This record gives sequence, C-alpha cells and structure tokens, in this order.
Amino acid sequence: MSAEDLRPPVALVGAGPGDPALITVGGLARIAAADVVVYDRLANPALLRQARADAELVYVGKTPDRHTLSQQEINALLVERARAGKRVVRLKGGDPFVFGRGGEEAQALRAAGIAFEVVPGVTSAVAVPAYAGIPVTHRGIATSFAVITGHEDAAKAEPEVDWARVAPAADTLVLLMGVGRIAEIADALVAHGRPADTPTAVVEWGTLPRQRVVTGTLGTIAAAVAEAGIAPPAVTVVGDVVRLRDELRWYDNRPLAGKRVLVTRTREQASELAELLASVGAEPVELPSLAIREVADPAAVAEAVTALRVAAYGWAIFTSANGVQVFFDALTAHGLDARAFGRTQVAAIGPGTAAALAVRGVRADIVPARYVAEGLIEALAGRVLHGQRVLLPRAKGGRDVLITGLQERGAVVDELVLYEAVVPRAPDAEGLRRLRAGDIDIATFASSSSVRNLVAMLGGDVTPLRDVTIAAIGPVTAQAVREAGLEPAVVAEEHSIVGLLRALVLHFAGMR
Ligand code: SAH
Repeated sequence: MSAEDLRPPVALVGAGPGDPALITVGGLARIAAADVVVYDRLANPALLRQARADAELVYVGKTPDRHTLSQQEINALLVERARAGKRVVRLKGGDPFVFGRGGEEAQALRAAGIAFEVVPGVTSAVAVPAYAGIPVTHRGIATSFAVITGHEDAAKAEPEVDWARVAPAADTLVLLMGVGRIAEIADALVAHGRPADTPTAVVEWGTLPRQRVVTGTLGTIAAAVAEAGIAPPAVTVVGDVVRLRDELRWYDNRPLAGKRVLVTRTREQASELAELLASVGAEPVELPSLAIREVADPAAVAEAVTALRVAAYGWAIFTSANGVQVFFDALTAHGLDARAFGRTQVAAIGPGTAAALAVRGVRADIVPARYVAEGLIEALAGRVLHGQRVLLPRAKGGRDVLITGLQERGAVVDELVLYEAVVPRAPDAEGLRRLRAGDIDIATFASSSSVRNLVAMLGGDVTPLRDVTIAAIGPVTAQAVREAGLEPAVVAEEHSIVGLLRALVLHFAGMR
C-alpha cells in the first residue's frame, strides 16, 4: 500500500490564478497521481500536462458551443468517479473555497459519504493585484481588505450584494467577477460613501503574459474599462493602494511583456528559448518547423567511428547540437562513448553545440567568438591543420565555406552527413492557426532551415509573417529570411539562443 492509497479519493485543488508556477507543491502532486482531473476554464491547461498520460481529463467550464455542466452534474460526476474507485482531482482556478463553489462540492461529497481533502490555492483576489504591482494592504495606507463578488451574470438568481454594508467594509476592496457591471458597481460604492476619486484598477487575465491593467478612479473606471474593451476574467481593486502601482509595477512592464512569440525550433529544443522568453514577459508559442531525419549512410558512419577510435582525426568539428546528438547516437549504437574521442581535438561552432557536447562528457577545445563557419576558421588560425584529417559530422546541405576554409589550410575533410532538417510530419496546428489569425507579434528563427520549412508549412504564402517582427539568430538565417521575401527586424550579434533573446530585448527597449 502506498501513501497515495491512504489519501481520500477526492481532492479539491486550487490551481492558482493563471501563472502555472503558482500552483502549490501539494496540488501538483495530486494532479500527477490522479486518475481523473475535472477542471474548469480558469485552471491553466498547462497544469494538465502534469497529469498521467492515461488520466481522464474532464472539462466542465463554459464554452460558446457546448452546454455547461450544472453544479449538480459536476457534483454527481465527482461522486460517480470516486465510487468507481478512481482518484479524482477537482481542479479549480485560484482557491477552491473562494467563490469557486468548492464548498458546495465538498458538501455533496460529504452527503454521499465520500472522503475528500482540500488543497488551497493562491487566490486571484491577492495574486492578481500583486502581479499588477498592487499590495492589498500597505503600512500607512490600508490595514484591511475585503473580497467581494460583483456577480458576473445578472440573470442568475444570486443574492444581491449589500453595497451599503460592503462599501465601508475595508480600506481595500477586491471585487471578483462583475467587470461587465463595473459602472453599476462603481456607482453603488460612491452612493454608499466611497469618494468618487478613490483610485481603482481593473486587471484582466492577471498573472499571465496577456495581463492588461486599466487604472482610474471610481468615477472614471467604467469608461476606461469600456474603452480598453476589458472582459472577464478580471479583478477590480478599489482603494489608495492602487496608487502604489506606479512605483511597484514589475510584471507587465518586463521587456517583452505581452508579446506573443513564435518559437520554431524542434520540439526537443524549444523549451530553452520558451523559458527565456517567459522570463522577460513574453508568451512563447511553439510551432516546431524542423524535425530531424537521420540520413546517415551506415557504412560511412562505421568508417568514421573506426577512424575516430584509432585516433586518425586531428580534429572533430561540430556545427549544431542536433549533429552532436545524432553522432553520439551513432557512437552508442557502436557500443562507444565519449572516450572514443581520445586525443582528438574538438571544436564547437557555438555555445549551444558546446553544451550538447559537454552533457555527453566532451569539453570543446575551441568555441569561436563568432558562431558562424567563418568564425570557426578564424578560431582555428593558430592551430596546425596541415595534413590533418578533420571529421565534420553535420546536416545535409551545410555551407561549403567551412570545408573550403579547412582545405585551404591543408586539412583533409571527412564530411559525414548525418541528418536532414525536414518539415515535421504533424505540424503544430495551434501555432499555425495563431500565426494565420494574426495572433503572433514576433517570430524567432534559429536556423535557415527553420525559415524555409515554415514558409513551406504556410504553403509558400508568407502573408501571415508580413506584420510580424522577425528575429534571426545570425546572418545566415537572416539571409534565408530575405530569400523568403521578408525582412528580419532583429539579427542577433551573438549567434546563440541567449544572444537572440538579448537582441530582441534591446530591439523593444529601443522602441519604448
Ligand atoms: N476561486 C477563484 C475565484 C473564482 S471566481 C480564486 O480564488 O481566484 C472567478 C473570478 O475570479 C473571475 O471572474 C475573476 O474576477 C477572478 N479571476 C480568476 N482568475 C483571474 C485572472 N487570472 N485574472 C483576473 N481575474 C481572475
């Protein structure tokens, strides 16, 4: 019997307000152990990736085209799955007991005799203001805050909020829901004694890259909300603490705040860039336009591996992390590892390639200052190449510059074509859809094949990329962008993923 078996069968878990990093450690563990996850609209779907591949995922939120499960139906679903012996997670936005109807679900479980536990979550009532740079209390400004529902749906038979009681209830008022009725609510608060010039902020999609904030006063906020087209979900904060945003804003003014950025690398390589982008406020949208297809001739590989083992090569030169991966796969297939390099000197074209070597136990002897073929030739300037055999494992269609440059220095080059960068067989439909819908601000390219392949994925029509800021990792990739009839707005000076990000940040800093 494991600890999991001793837990109650149902957990009401708070997902946090949006940013997937804001779930609790306990909440994440419950999702990972669940047989069934019942979730709604405000629980970030990214969290569902933590569930087991065979877990049943049940969406019970509203959709425009589907009818919503009633609260009774949701309660019945939880009871039924638990009775069937399943481990059930009920995943709710924010905290399950703050306007989440978690209490009602707990009552239904209790009535059915099913044990449950509650894993509280970070509520949007506190976290969303925080991501807008607004502390709900502040020494000398606010010693209390109240969380109030504004009721989204006037048609629902909800008891009316008693504004006379609520208006003076605390220094800071945090209103969930009700942004559609903001004019009425602001009027009611003023009618019950809050001055019309009380600072007020409305935060839409808080804690996510798409977060938007409008500020004003109780007197002006409704017009500002209408003007900006703010829609649910949104949190409204009323009180003098709102003024602190000017000083404490930190999230939605990060360098790439709110920018939707296409990441076109292979699925395996996308995460590094995606994480860097998120750390400066952007929303990464993955659209892998490359897949690696191994095209190595087994006889040629066997010959190269043997030559490497008998120390026939003076140098081995790697020009991509993919090349490193495929070459090491070949080594493994021959029952070998990093020791096969022996005294062979190793060069990597850039830090990404060097890192791929390092994790496999090979420290590159040379990484040039400029991460292009020409830079590599320069970096080899002081080294004896004359009469040396050089192993060059790389992609099909690599540039001739490297081979010619090495040959001019008297080297004998064994080019070992290992793989081809092809268009992925199942292209990411969501990324393509968003690109076509104009839902992308920036497209990043880390290789010329990723440019050519994306153009192919668009059926040769680059129109969706015309209004997009295009960022290329270096001059060769930039040239591929131009050949596609587009103009790169950003070309990284340092041809690495970090260099690409830095160039983007500088570009947008210059535009502020
Ligand atoms: N249990 C949730 C609240 C559910 S009620 C919690 O503790 O946060 C739903 C309301 O929460 C929305 O109408 C909105 O007012 C607020 N909300 C939830 N997530 C939000 C987000 N990311 N940004 C802004 N408001 C949010």
